Amino acid sequence: MVEIKRNPTRAVKIGTTTIGAGHPIAVQSMTATKTTDVAATVELVNLLYNAGADVVRIAVDNKKDAEAVQSIRDATQANLSVDLQENYRMAAVVAPFVNKLRYNPGHLHHHERTKTWQDKVRWLSDVANANDCALRVGVNCGSVDPAIKARFPENDSITPMIASAMENCELLDTLGFLRYCVSLKDSDPSKVVEVNRRFAEQRPDVPLHLGVTEAGLPPDGVIKTRVAFEQLIGHGVGDTVRVSLTVPNHRKPEEISVGRQIIDDIYAGKVRSVVDFNRDGLNIISCPSCSRVENEAFVQLAENVKEMTRYAEQHRVTIAVMGCRVNGPGETDDADLGLWCGPNFVNLKRGTEELGAFPYDEILARLKSELDSIIVSRFHH
Ligand code: SF4
Repeated sequence: MVEIKRNPTRAVKIGTTTIGAGHPIAVQSMTATKTTDVAATVELVNLLYNAGADVVRIAVDNKKDAEAVQSIRDATQANLSVDLQENYRMAAVVAPFVNKLRYNPGHLHHHERTKTWQDKVRWLSDVANANDCALRVGVNCGSVDPAIKARFPENDSITPMIASAMENCELLDTLGFLRYCVSLKDSDPSKVVEVNRRFAEQRPDVPLHLGVTEAGLPPDGVIKTRVAFEQLIGHGVGDTVRVSLTVPNHRKPEEISVGRQIIDDIYAGKVRSVVDFNRDGLNIISCPSCSRVENEAFVQLAENVKEMTRYAEQHRVTIAVMGCRVNGPGETDDADLGLWCGPNFVNLKRGTEELGAFPYDEILARLKSELDSIIVSRFHH
């Protein structure tokens, strides 16, 4: 066993589990069924719970989703967390039935634009307090508050993330609400390591939820996640983890088993962080899907993209495949080619230039022609 000195984070109770203060690192996952499909969501929540998930997250975007959460609660023992993006006000509806609320500071500005983000966070902490819930300040690389981004150089994606998390922590501390953790996620493992390390240096007391967002399809998604977790957990940073894999729902328990295996290996000293995960070749990032996915064909599309682009593996090109328009457009910004799903079409962009929306049975051919022109322009001139 390896002796790892954990950061002196404070304890945060999430239902029957506690993270921080030296407690075992909790392993989480998230449902990718439609939240309004209570039967399917309960089935997946319990599949994850029986696979050992310490916490299971469910996406809630609207009143219908929020109202479904009570029925899901009644049908499971699992510790439940809800993922609130733009519609943070659903917190009041779901809080009585869950153990944690995740809000994204980068999406708070979308609704009630006359209210300050401070008022919204104060309200969220009051709701959490009144309902025995923990909070997660969930910062994502693709959705940092534009007002904060504007304060830093365009090519610095990390400092704005830390600034967003720090100001939310300072406000919650001032409000006396200490039952929160923070996550700082990016699809690039090396950025995940840097952003979490820099944050933990400033706030070693705040429990961290680690994750490489859109890590993608196994095995690449597992390797990317392992590299980041080894560099962080191996240095005592991290109190709960989520392995985001693009897999069909019945395989979602792999997120739990992979998470546990990586933690066990780190404590057994079996680390492989020197592995260079093909940084010079084709890099496919894809989201793990969730209730917001716009078309059930998303996971198959991601697998087809991987299959179709095998011929270009030696070329340093990043392709992002996202399941919906909530995070799709933002999370594909750093990719050379970005796709995000709509109900009947797949949106395609090259860098920040939108190329249009294409039927599901035509998108691969269009993607291939775009990829070929990148290869010719970059590598065959
Ligand atoms: S991109 Fe959309 S579908 Fe994919 S995980 Fe994020 S919110 Fe869910």
